[in-house]
Parts: sequence; structure tokens; C-alpha cells
Amino acid sequence: MDNSFAGRRALVTGAGKGIGRATSLALAYHGAKVLAVTRSQADLNNLLQECSSITPLCVDLADWEATEATLQGVGPIDLLVNNAACTSLQPFLEVTPDQFDKLFNVNVKAALHVSQIVARGMIARNSGGSMVNVSSQASQCALRDHTVYCASKAALDMLTKTMAVELGPHKIRVNSVNPTVVMTEMGRLAWSDPEKAQTMMSRIPLGNFAARACAEVEDVVNTILFLLSDKSKMINGVTLPVDGGFLAC
Ligand code: NDP
Repeated sequence: MDNSFAGRRALVTGAGKGIGRATSLALAYHGAKVLAVTRSQADLNNLLQECSSITPLCVDLADWEATEATLQGVGPIDLLVNNAACTSLQPFLEVTPDQFDKLFNVNVKAALHVSQIVARGMIARNSGGSMVNVSSQASQCALRDHTVYCASKAALDMLTKTMAVELGPHKIRVNSVNPTVVMTEMGRLAWSDPEKAQTMMSRIPLGNFAARACAEVEDVVNTILFLLSDKSKMINGVTLPVDGGFLAC
């Protein structure tokens, strides 16, 4: 085992599936003590079967009080990955208030809240730390039918920057990763239609579905691990695309 995160305690949200799950397993593999937060107990049971050293925490992060209660007393955290998010596809003219609130509650407000809880502990211990927000290329490039998702990720990018400014003096670094399409459950929801997918993929300089499929979960996880690690100790407040060059076009 590579012990590069040995002795560190990491909290990962949205750890039940996709990128969050893979990040939790990678951090545990590299020696971190991982606290995995998600809202489906079945996913946590399953995750524990794969890696018994992980501590499961089941909560709906859209619920402010329940989140506060669940994260109270989890002990010191050195590394935080705000990965949990949801999406829904709606043309701009059909966006509903409940969908707006649902997405902003999880994608932005929960990231802010979990970060506040973790940062307060880091500051009290004077330990410093590193946080990564999982954003998206959609924060910087408008996508049809993704009005609220794009807006929520743009808000998350600015949250990353404001956190970096205010938490930097406490030696807490905050960065985001901004992936292109990744074929997780969320990716499949938006990009399973081959015609739509081809239009997106044709805009990625490093490849397309036929050649090198969009981003792999591993590409995103490796970038998260880099930003969490001391190898990036002078990087703070960046929104780092993992997009094969999509945002460069
Ligand atoms: P998945 O849908 O595969 O996994 C998301 C995880 O977050 C699930 O375990 C889900 O639990 C959990 N989650 C969602 N809402 C809540 C909540 N309210 N409380 C607790 N847990 C919650 O998504 P991905 O792995 O694809 O996405 C991970 C991150 O990457 C997200 O921030 C996403 O926006 C971003 N991203 C994804 C891209 C893609 O193409 N897949 C592209 C760019 C960015 P449950 O299943 O129980 O709801």
C-alpha cells in the first residue's frame, strides 16, 4: 500500500457511488482514515464490504440540521472532498422552483455547510488542511437543458475561491476539480443519447467516445488526490478542468 495519506483523516461526501465512492476507496488505499458520507445506507453497506476500514455516515446533506447532528463529533478532519451533487434536465423555460432549490441545496449549500463544520475544527486545532470541491466543466460552459446545474456549479466555483481567500490564512487550501462527462450514474442520465453525446465528445480535443471515452473516474480521482496532497501545497483557489481540453476551445 502507498501510505502517502497515512495518519490523515478524510471526509468524502456522495461516497456511495461514482466519483465519491472511487475517491473514498483510493484515499483508504493510500492510508487515510476515510469517513464516507452519503444518503443511501445500501451503498454504504456495500462500500464497507469492499473496504472495512471506512467509517460510514448516512445523511441527506440537503437537511441542514441532520447534517449538523451527523457530523458533530466525527473527530478531526484533515482532508475534505465535497463531491455530493444531483442534477435534473430541464429546458430553461421549464425550470421549476423545487428543482432549483433541490439542486442548490445539495450542490452549493451543503458544500458550504460541510466545509464550515470541517473548517471550524481545523481552525480550532490550528492544523491546516485541504479541501476539494467537485465542480464541473458545466460551471464555465453553458449546456442546453442544464440551466440550474450549470448555475449551481458556477456558484460552487466562486464558493471555492471565496473559501480559499478566507481560509488560506489558516493554512487551509481549497480548490475544485471541474471534470467533463464521466459515465457514472449521473453521467448516464445526461449523456446516454448517442447523438447528444457525440456532439459533446467532438468538442473534446483529447478524444471522443470512439477513441478515449470522456474522462474516466480514475482521471478525476487522481486529480482530487493531487489537490488534497502536499504535492499541491502552493495551489489554492483554482478550478482545475479535467476535461481533455474542452474548456480551452
Ligand atoms: P453519482 O450520481 O454517480 O453519485 C453521486 C453520489 O452523491 C451518490 O452516492 C448520491 O447518493 C450522493 N448524493 C447525492 N445527493 C446527496 C445528498 N443530498 N446527500 C447525501 N449524498 C448525496 O454522481 P457522479 O459520481 O457522477 O458525480 C460526482 C460529482 O462529480 C458531482 O459533484 C457531479 O456534479 C460531478 N460531476 C460529474 C460529472 C459526470 O459526468 N458524471 C461531470 C462533471 C462533474 P444517492 O445515489 O443515494 O442519491
